[in-house]
Amino acid sequence: VRARVMQVEHSPEVSYADIGGLEQQMQEVRETVEMPLESPEMFEQVGIQPPSGVLLYGPPGTGKTMLAKAVANQTNATFIKMAGSELVHKFIGEGAKLVRDLFEVARENEPAVIFIDEIDAIASKRTDSKTSGDAEVQRTMMQLLSEMDGFEERGDIRIIAATNRFDMLDPAILRPGRFDRLIEVPKPDSEGREIIFQIHTRNMNVDDDVDFAQLAEMADEASGADVKAICTEAGMFAIRDDRTEIYMTDFVSAWEKIQAEADEDGDVSR
Ligand code: ATP
Repeated sequence: VRARVMQVEHSPEVSYADIGGLEQQMQEVRETVEMPLESPEMFEQVGIQPPSGVLLYGPPGTGKTMLAKAVANQTNATFIKMAGSELVHKFIGEGAKLVRDLFEVARENEPAVIFIDEIDAIASKRTDSKTSGDAEVQRTMMQLLSEMDGFEERGDIRIIAATNRFDMLDPAILRPGRFDRLIEVPKPDSEGREIIFQIHTRNMNVDDDVDFAQLAEMADEASGADVKAICTEAGMFAIRDDRTEIYMTDFVSAWEKIQAEADEDGDVSR
């Protein structure tokens, strides 16, 4: 079960340079996660505790997972990911056991960054503890909080959680000593999208006429993940046309195709 729900990567291949348009968020993540891992003595000497847990919140596909991976890369830490949704609908006690395993794997692989995606799945305020399934979800959450409470002794482990549903969160998890540092990760603005286009076309054979500023203006409301999808799709248009160079028109067609697909799904951004 462990291997199925836990993703473990040693020093993942994502760096800060791969992330576009999130300067301020990167800065905050570096201060709250990277600094305590790299220079714990600084915090000791100053006499403050680094934040226990950092919560990244914002729409899907905006780079939350990338941020967590980039810190792990920068600090040569093991990246251990678990999705909140994997912790629900389990046999009694299994969710809590998976949380214990998660921290055990982290301890065995220090320094480590634990990333809990979709934390709302186990920490929603709508959970009604009267139904047995929900009581089980609550026990899983309690286990997570109790692991976090023993934080000082835990050493070189930092914990980052992420959610697309900040409004759904149980305020209990945001208390001091828990996820007490909140970082909003919004969709990129036009400038951010332009940088993300540049990042994702770094290895693409792009024609000189391709205007990324114009593309960024055009792809209004696109997330970072959408921009990546546009780039890949543009490449596909070139291939279909038996070309190895990608033109501006390929990017425009790609955006139209992706928008049409999103409309079918009833969703602007995936
Ligand atoms: P979710 O909430 O769906 O888990 P997320 O915010 O964790 O989403 P990521 O998994 O980090 O999103 O992003 C998905 C992919 O989209 C990344 O692998 C990357 O290719 C691209 N992407 C998203 N945001 C950015 C960004 N700011 N800069 C560059 N690429 C990005």
